[in-house]
Amino acid sequence: MILQKSALFRQECFIDGEWLSSPDLLEVIDPSSQRLVGTVPSLGEMETRKAISAAHKAFPAWKTHTAKERSVLLKKWYELIICHARDLAEIMSREQGKPLAEAQREVMSCAAYVEWFAEEAKRVYGDTIPMAQKGKRIVVLKEPIGVCAAITPWNFPLSTIARKAAPALAAGCTVIVKPSSYTPFSALALAVLAEEAGFPPGTLNVITGQAETIGRILTSDRLVKKISFTGSTEVGRILMKDSSESLKKISLELGGHAPFIVFDDADIELAVSEAMISKFRNSGQTCVCANRFLIQNPIYEQFAEHFVRLVRNQLVVGPGMHMESNQGPLIDEKAVLKVENQIRDALEKGAKLAIGGKRLPGKGFFFEPTVLTEVTSEMAIAHEETFGPVAPLFRFKDEEEALRIANDSEYGLAAYFFSKDLARAWRMTENLECGMIGVNTGILSSEAAPFGGTKDSGMGREGSKYGIEEYLELKYMCIGGLERM
Ligand code: NAP
Repeated sequence: MILQKSALFRQECFIDGEWLSSPDLLEVIDPSSQRLVGTVPSLGEMETRKAISAAHKAFPAWKTHTAKERSVLLKKWYELIICHARDLAEIMSREQGKPLAEAQREVMSCAAYVEWFAEEAKRVYGDTIPMAQKGKRIVVLKEPIGVCAAITPWNFPLSTIARKAAPALAAGCTVIVKPSSYTPFSALALAVLAEEAGFPPGTLNVITGQAETIGRILTSDRLVKKISFTGSTEVGRILMKDSSESLKKISLELGGHAPFIVFDDADIELAVSEAMISKFRNSGQTCVCANRFLIQNPIYEQFAEHFVRLVRNQLVVGPGMHMESNQGPLIDEKAVLKVENQIRDALEKGAKLAIGGKRLPGKGFFFEPTVLTEVTSEMAIAHEETFGPVAPLFRFKDEEEALRIANDSEYGLAAYFFSKDLARAWRMTENLECGMIGVNTGILSSEAAPFGGTKDSGMGREGSKYGIEEYLELKYMCIGGLERM
C-alpha cells in the first residue's frame, strides 16, 4: 500500500495514548485478492480491562474540558480526516473491498459526522422548568454518561465509528472502539489522527481482537456506562442480554430489510435511478439498502426492463482499487454462499433470473449484480437480509397490499416509496413500521438526520441533534427556598 502518510497504516492497538502490539495476531484479508493486507493484535480480557481503566481514568478530566475545548479538538480531528481522505479511502478499499470513489465518499461522511458533533458539543442545553409548588424551581442538567464502548461492523468501517465516537467525545464521554476484525485498519488510522489532533490519552482507545471476549468484558464491566453497537441483530441481542446485569444504556443499530415501493403514479426514471444507488451501493452490503422491490402491477414490466438495462450498462464488477470498478467484492466466502442460497431458493420456488446470478470465477469474493423477477413472500429472500447485490422484484396490486408486504418483516430500519400523490405519501409514512423513510429518494443518510430503526433493527438514533442524547444523562436539580418572606 503506497500512502502519502505511511504512519496511517498502523498494525497496533491504541490504549491509553500508547500503541500496543501482541504476539497473538489477527490476519486481515483483502476480499478482492484474498491476499494478506496486514495483521493486528488479537487482544483479550487483560487488554480490554486496561482500555476500560484508561477510559475511566481519563473521564473526569475530559468531562471538565469546556464544550468549546472539546469542540476544537473534534474540529482538528475533522480537518485531519479531510486532509488524509485519499489515504483513508485506500486503506478502506484494501481491507473492505469497496471502490475507491465510494470509499472516498465514506471518508467524507465520516468527517461530516465529526464536524457535526464538534458543533453540537457546544449545544448541549439543559432546561429550567417552572415548578408546581411555590418557591421552587426545576433545573435539568445534561451530563456525559461516562465510559462508552463502540462496537462496529465492516461495511462502513469509518462512518459507523464517527457516528458513535464523535458524539460521545463531544458530550464529554471517553470511548473504547472495538472495530470489526475485517476492517481494523480504518479504525486504527482514525486513532492515529485523533492522537495527532491532541485528544488526551485514554479519551479514545481502539482495541482489536477476540470479539466474544472483548464484548463480554465491555458489557459486564460496571465502569462501562454505555454500549453502542452497529452490526447484526443476532450479536445485538447477545450484547443487550449481557448488558442487563450491569444495566447499561444501550443503542443498537442492527440489520434491515428495506422495502422499496414504486406506485404506478411514480416518476419511473427517477425510481429506477434511485433503485440503482439504493441497491448497489457497497455491492448491496448496507443495512438501509433496498432489499425488496415492490412494484405496482401496471408498471412492473416497464420498471423491470429499465432496471435490468441499467444494471447491464452501468455496473462494473472488479477490485475496488481499479478505477473502472463500481462494484467491489463481497466481504467473504460466507457472504457469497448466503447470496447463492437465496437465489437458488428463489429460483426453485418460481422466481425468474433477469440478469446475473453467479459468482465470478477466480480470486476474490465477486458476485454478479443480479435481478430476480416474480419473487413472492414464500421465498427466503423475502424475509432474510441479503447483504449482497441481488434485487428481488415483487408485484403488488394496491396501497393496502404494498403496506402489508412492506411491514411483513421483523426488521424496521428503512423504507422507500415513490409516488406523486401527497396524501398517499403521508399515509404511507405514518403506516410503514420503520425508523427512516425515503420518499422519492433511495438515499437518506446524513449527519443532520436521525439514523436508526425499530423492531429487530434496534433502538437509539445516530447523527442529528438527537445523536448526542445517547451519550448524556439527565440530572434534575430542585432548588427551594425561593419564596419571598
Ligand atoms: P456482526 O457480525 O454483528 O459484527 C459487528 C461487530 O460485532 C464486529 O466488530 C464484530 O467483531 C463484533 N462481534 C461479533 N460477535 C460479537 C460478540 N459475541 N460480542 C461482541 N462483539 C461481537 O455484523 P457484521 O457482519 O460486521 O455487519 C453486518 C451487519 O451489520 C448487518 O446485519 C447490517 O445490517 C448491520 N448494520 C447495521 C447498520 C445500522 O446502522 N443499522 C449499519 C451497518 C451495518 P468481529 O468482526 O471481530 O467478529
